Amino acid sequence: MKILHSLATGLVPPLCAACGRSCRPGAFACTRCTRRLADAKPIAGGGPQGLDRCWSSASHEGVARDLVTALKFRRLLPVAGLMAERIEWLAPASLLSGSIVPVPTSPLRTLRRGFDPAAEIASALAELTGLTLSTCLGRSGGGRQVGRRRGERLGHPPRVRPKAEVPRSVLLLDDVLTTGATLSACARALRSAGAVRVVAITFTRRL
Ligand SMILES: [Zn+2]
Repeated sequence: MKILHSLATGLVPPLCAACGRSCRPGAFACTRCTRRLADAKPIAGGGPQGLDRCWSSASHEGVARDLVTALKFRRLLPVAGLMAERIEWLAPASLLSGSIVPVPTSPLRTLRRGFDPAAEIASALAELTGLTLSTCLGRSGGGRQVGRRRGERLGHPPRVRPKAEVPRSVLLLDDVLTTGATLSACARALRSAGAVRVVAITFTRRL
């Protein structure tokens, strides 16, 4: 079953998810990458409009970026657990409260990928922290942010709408913060549906 599971997630157990070198059994990153990630500095403040606070566990480079790629494009799902562990370990305690709401991916992309990276990290974080998980936001249209220019992204924020009851206190969660257009759109949708506190955490942030 273990082998089947590994095949299903596309993971060969002894290889590091970030650099591809071999690592000790049961680990998803090698000692070198783990150490490099531990050295990466979190980024706080200066977040997108509409958020009360925003925090990212690392800048979008090096091992942190490689892990995002491994999760998103190589479907190494256990990486979501690694990301959640780092967030739980380093995020200010005051941010880790309320209900965790994953930033919604367009339905088309989720369908194509077969999973939703933000939802995977959010669910791992909910398990670690004991916070509630609420998938109350939906996204309409197939609008892609990746590959669009920054100006275009800011000019065409994704359409986000509540699809279920919205918690009063929300911790938005996403893998990468780029322009912040998506997080701002989420914050607007949440506040218009009654949220009074909206903070956000992302695994990485592009500077
Ligand atoms: Zn490595």
